[in-house]
Amino acid sequence: MLEVTDALAEVLARVRPRKPEESPLASAVLGRVLAADVLAETDSPPFPKSLRDGYAVLAADCTSPNAELRVVAEIAAGAMPMRPINSGECTRIFTGAPIPEGANAVVMQEDTVPLAGELVRITDAAVKPGQHIFACGTEMRSGDVVLTPGTVLNAATLGLLAGLGKTTAKLFPAPRVAILSTGDELVEAGQPLKPGHIRNSNGPMLVAQTAAAGAVPSYLGNARDDAAKVRAMIGEGLTSADVLVIAGGVSVGKFDLVPTVLEEIGVAIHVRQVRMKPGKPFLFGTKDNVLVFGLPGNPVSAYVGFALFVHPALRILAGHTDPGPRITTLPVAEGIAVSNDRPTYHPARLELGNTGWMVHPLSWMGAPDLRGFQSADALLVLPPGDTRLDRGQPASVVILNCN
Ligand code: AMP
Ligand code: MG
Repeated sequence: MLEVTDALAEVLARVRPRKPEESPLASAVLGRVLAADVLAETDSPPFPKSLRDGYAVLAADCTSPNAELRVVAEIAAGAMPMRPINSGECTRIFTGAPIPEGANAVVMQEDTVPLAGELVRITDAAVKPGQHIFACGTEMRSGDVVLTPGTVLNAATLGLLAGLGKTTAKLFPAPRVAILSTGDELVEAGQPLKPGHIRNSNGPMLVAQTAAAGAVPSYLGNARDDAAKVRAMIGEGLTSADVLVIAGGVSVGKFDLVPTVLEEIGVAIHVRQVRMKPGKPFLFGTKDNVLVFGLPGNPVSAYVGFALFVHPALRILAGHTDPGPRITTLPVAEGIAVSNDRPTYHPARLELGNTGWMVHPLSWMGAPDLRGFQSADALLVLPPGDTRLDRGQPASVVILNCN
């Protein structure tokens, strides 16, 4: 039985990013990772532009109070200045419009008084050269490396790429994840529940966890506890996905068929059990380039196993440089006492109080208790043995669901 960190190391040692592809840029690529440098092909801004509505002037013309200038033209954003200005002249200008030749400052409209006969009075006597002008190339110069590999595409990145004129970029593809449930007792939502049966929570939950991790889920269905069906569905997953996640049937019971089937199919198993609660039964194996995870059937165990082992693997496949999970130390918001022979990953919620972030342990009845777990956004890591933490004492915390 491996410690959590050793089991994760076994996984990460076998994960490589997917081959990058030139991909169209749209909101669907949010969260994906850039695989190549992005260079600027032009200066930005490509011309000196006004940062204010007002007048483009020569700063030297405005050193005495109430200077009067002749307005010789008007330049809107999108237009080009028709003529340069000379001393004693100015142009009406609007935010985003190009500065005319000869001008070296913009005076805000609020610091001016329009006069009759195309004249304007400048009431700001402290006009400085360059004021309210965004000079050519201030943001970037042609040839600058603007984005580097490993950049995670957020809304601002997509805006920046559009600003660079890009319609495509070289991105790591999202990992494809095939998911299957196992269990003769499982009934899908919407189907009648017979005696002795329970609903299938893991299928929809793991599909959603996969999507939330930025990967592409494909739900293969419930293979029941039928060796032929388990074999066929695992075979399907191995040919269609980068990662296969199997929920249930991975332990040592008579109906836990997954380990045997994986071995028969030729999946090399690298991890069999992890010293943690919930979720001791766990399998990690590989066949060709496909990663295979067997998670315990209890829903909270499956969720935690995905968060601690599958999600980091998905991050590396997707080109992230840091696999996570993010671990920090926070004071507990409420006392907690547990007694266990394994480290406990107790569901918790992060709380922002007056003194900063704290972690609030949730009331939770163990591995089958998805209701108690549902609002968790963190796991409080408690060491093996008898542990008691009083309010305010520091504890190790795994942050869930961050990409
Ligand atoms: P197993 O890992 O197959 O031994 O299952 C452990 C426990 O989790 C059993 O009580 C199962 O009924 C339950 N379980 C297995 N799969 C699911 C599922 N997809 N949804 C909800 N509970 C499940
Ligand atoms: Mg089972």
